[in-house]
Amino acid sequence: MKKQQIDTLCVQAGYEPKNGEPRIAPIVQSTTYKYDNADELGALFDLKKDGHMYSRISNPTVANLENKVAALEGGIGAVATSSGQAATLLAILTICNCGEHIVALNNIYGGTFTLIGSTLKKFGIETTFVSAAQDDAVIERAILPNTKLILGESLGNPGVEVLDIERFSSLAHKHSIPLFIDNTFPTPVLLRPIEYGADIVIHSATKYLDGHATSVGGIIVDSGKFDWNNGKFPHLTDEDPNYHGLSYTKAFGKSAFITKARVVFIRDLGTLMTPFNAFLINLGTETLALRMERHSQNALKVAEFLQEHPQVEWVSYPSLPSSPSYDLTQKYLPKGAAGVLSVGIKGGVEKSKKFINSLQLTSLVVHVGDIRTHALHPASMTHRQLSAQDQIKVGIKPNMVRLSIGIENVEDILDDLNQALQESASRK
Ligand SMILES: *Cc1c(COP(=O)(O)O)cnc(C)c1O
Repeated sequence: MKKQQIDTLCVQAGYEPKNGEPRIAPIVQSTTYKYDNADELGALFDLKKDGHMYSRISNPTVANLENKVAALEGGIGAVATSSGQAATLLAILTICNCGEHIVALNNIYGGTFTLIGSTLKKFGIETTFVSAAQDDAVIERAILPNTKLILGESLGNPGVEVLDIERFSSLAHKHSIPLFIDNTFPTPVLLRPIEYGADIVIHSATKYLDGHATSVGGIIVDSGKFDWNNGKFPHLTDEDPNYHGLSYTKAFGKSAFITKARVVFIRDLGTLMTPFNAFLINLGTETLALRMERHSQNALKVAEFLQEHPQVEWVSYPSLPSSPSYDLTQKYLPKGAAGVLSVGIKGGVEKSKKFINSLQLTSLVVHVGDIRTHALHPASMTHRQLSAQDQIKVGIKPNMVRLSIGIENVEDILDDLNQALQESASRK
């Protein structure tokens, strides 16, 4: 059969029931697995044989979701984690030790910014933040001899800037390091970073993959394309005494990275996704292609409407011709730019809050990327821990409201936004 299209993979990939087995991937709510033979279980411990032995390390329901997202992204394997934050942490730790260094784009999600800029710093991993607006030469100067990776978001949260993945992949590969891309906002339905040279793809599955705001989770996908045997990654190539001197690249070839992520860090830190969350997130992915189309259509209509509204100072949405990302959007997101946009309300912080407080259909929640329309004020919420100076540096303006447009009828969404904008402008 020829390679299936992405919408077919959303529905079908990851689980192939055999004769008489349940059509729907069951929830395997079991911590452990029974074996008949001591040597067989021993071989599992030595990584000489594949199989589940303990649900802190792997689980069949979780594996179904991992296989599906790997297929959607065009990767060779995946590990599903307890959150998006855990996915980023584990992906970094797999190749980065104390005393080593990361280069990251400065417009990333606030939680990732504090994870690498503050928490990992305390563990001895330093980060230099760069801006996509800087010249190649400036970015290359940030790459040090001990730099192990470049990290960026395909579509920044919350500024929705589109990253030139090919450019950053060339820069990373020129210095023999991998490019990690957080692809949470576009999802593989709208953009597959591996096709543009990304090596490792990370997701907060909590957002569009789940899509219904039921489950926190994350995923790491390995492209299998990066050559770890270039002298820079001894943690993957050299012998690991914890597994009797096994070398991950020798034993697992192209899967060295994703195997180490599981058998060292998932094993030791205990951050695998739970079977129940994997079941729900898998259910979400089945309708992902349909939902991303509708989210994108609705968000574009909302962006066009807000752009003309007298109470609005500015709108940022990648598919608007006024967006600084417009050209990159044509290249990387021709099918749509997902449901998140940001808008500056006239009259500053107070009017922005009044706008949010006046919304009726749209709810104020700390979330993005589910079927319901949401609003949030980044400066006083998700990015509150950043200083006012750092907020400006990472693109958070004081009057910015982040909207996550759902799949409701767009006329109802527009009515709600309109009445709240009028309310925010009133003197009451
Ligand atoms: C939400 C989010 C994360 C963190 O994911 P959690 O599931 O909340 O831990 C990481 N990156 C991006 C782009 C996000 O939007």
